[in-house]
Amino acid sequence: MTAPQAPQTEGAQGAGTGVGPQHAGPAGRAVRVPVPQQTFDAIVVGAGPAGSAAALELARAGHSVALVERGPYPGSKNVYGGVVYGRILDELVPRWWEHAPVQRWVTRRQTMIMTPTQAMTVDFRSQAWGEAPYNGATAHRADFDAWLAAEAEKAGAVIVPSTVVTGLLTGPDGSAVGIRTDRPDGDLGARVVIACDGVNSFLAKQAGFYDAAHQVEHTTLGVKETLRLPREVIDERFGVSGREGVDIEMLGATGGIPGGGFLYTNLESISIGVVLGLPGLGKAERRPEDIVAELKAHPAVAPLVRGAELVEYSAHLIPEGGYKHLPQLIGDGLLVAGDAAALCLAAGIWLEGVNFAIGSGMYAGRAAAAALRRGDTSKAGLAGYRTLLEGSFVLADHKKLRDIPGLVLSERMQTRYPGMICDIVQGLFDVTNPTPKPGLRTLLRRNARKHGVKLRDLARDGLTGLRGLG
Ligand SMILES: Cc1cc2nc3c(=O)[nH]c(=O)nc-3n(C[C@H](O)[C@H](O)[C@H](O)COP(=O)(O)OP(=O)(O)OC[C@H]3O[C@@H](n4cnc5c(N)ncnc54)[C@H](O)[C@@H]3O)c2cc1C
Repeated sequence: MTAPQAPQTEGAQGAGTGVGPQHAGPAGRAVRVPVPQQTFDAIVVGAGPAGSAAALELARAGHSVALVERGPYPGSKNVYGGVVYGRILDELVPRWWEHAPVQRWVTRRQTMIMTPTQAMTVDFRSQAWGEAPYNGATAHRADFDAWLAAEAEKAGAVIVPSTVVTGLLTGPDGSAVGIRTDRPDGDLGARVVIACDGVNSFLAKQAGFYDAAHQVEHTTLGVKETLRLPREVIDERFGVSGREGVDIEMLGATGGIPGGGFLYTNLESISIGVVLGLPGLGKAERRPEDIVAELKAHPAVAPLVRGAELVEYSAHLIPEGGYKHLPQLIGDGLLVAGDAAALCLAAGIWLEGVNFAIGSGMYAGRAAAAALRRGDTSKAGLAGYRTLLEGSFVLADHKKLRDIPGLVLSERMQTRYPGMICDIVQGLFDVTNPTPKPGLRTLLRRNARKHGVKLRDLARDGLTGLRGLG
């Protein structure tokens, strides 16, 4: 990996304007700094999937692009559950499945609805998912992100690792003209900056793109344990073979805190964890690791993790607000993509962040390349980004599923429905001789009452769910 030459900043003046760009300094005061002499067509901040996709697209279009990453290598700092849905890569890296560092191909998906003593599982498997072009894959982020960044580097992007971006440089008219970093030789200039610095984006916040007051309400904390297990034990326990893998999503597994659980199989380890709404976690005054411990002790999960050895514990925030709570995406000389733009899709049975990051990064790179070609990187010149997002799965899926994050994290869905559903199913299978079997309607009414669910609310939530499914 290569770092750029030291920019010569001493004594330089704002090119053509006689005024240097500005940087929000301490206490938000703008500080005038000289225009960096080392400039690129574009600078992408953050070498996660969004950043690498943006840099790859720009480099392929023939532009000079720097991909700046705070970690020692791309992926070194990144945390997720474990599944990449790779089809968006078809456009960026043809036949990506022959090169991407995949652990297992997900051929089996389960949704588990749980109470402390019950579990109802919907289990689906498809052999088609085990063949090209594949549906989902488990992968380690340190491998996957490094691989995608290397694709951008091969296309001509300059990767700048171990470099923290500490601020946005803005010109006299407020447009982004570069970045300030923690390097002694500091600043880099660019005609367009793409912020892919992940959840809680420092750059998007500095640009005033976020409604910071409500951000906590729409953020969850994901915590994950990686547990080592021999490959043949995983194959046997999860009913898979070869490179087949399993993805399990869980509802009702978070001790009453709004959120969900997950379990994914790697080749020789499994990833298990929970996602917890921050306000609920704060109120519950519980430690996330205790909730993971509780999940691992659940009667439906304990046999899956028995004998496994903890090899890693990690935690990271997730932006879960969805379409209704997206920040501003475009400014003068500035685009925001991936989690920095809160584009992670967290909607119950779907937790898709990496593919939305790759998609939005790719479209940001494409829109920036078009704007650079036209010589207009103003907000209007970059507006094609929104059009590309709206014309693709990125905003189409978010828009369609806009009511689902709220529904999934609602009190009814989290604390009432799992118990009601499990009791209805138990009622169907309970053999109550000599009492005759109760009908489904009786079971529904009885258990709705038991769990404090009004049938009117149930119908409304059912409709919201159905509308979301389209
Ligand atoms: C527990 C958990 C489970 C998840 N499970 C899944 C899953 O199974 N499947 C899925 O698709 N998604 C999942 N997600 C969501 C997914 O991880 C994100 O949506 C995705 O990583 C977003 O990619 P990104 O490139 O936008 O941001 P990130 O992957 O967060 O990358 C941001 C990059 O920017 C760098 N950076 C940040 N600030 C700076 C700075 N100031 N200077 C320089 N560099 C900086 C970081 O080091 C990082 O490399 C999960 C998330 C969590 C937390």
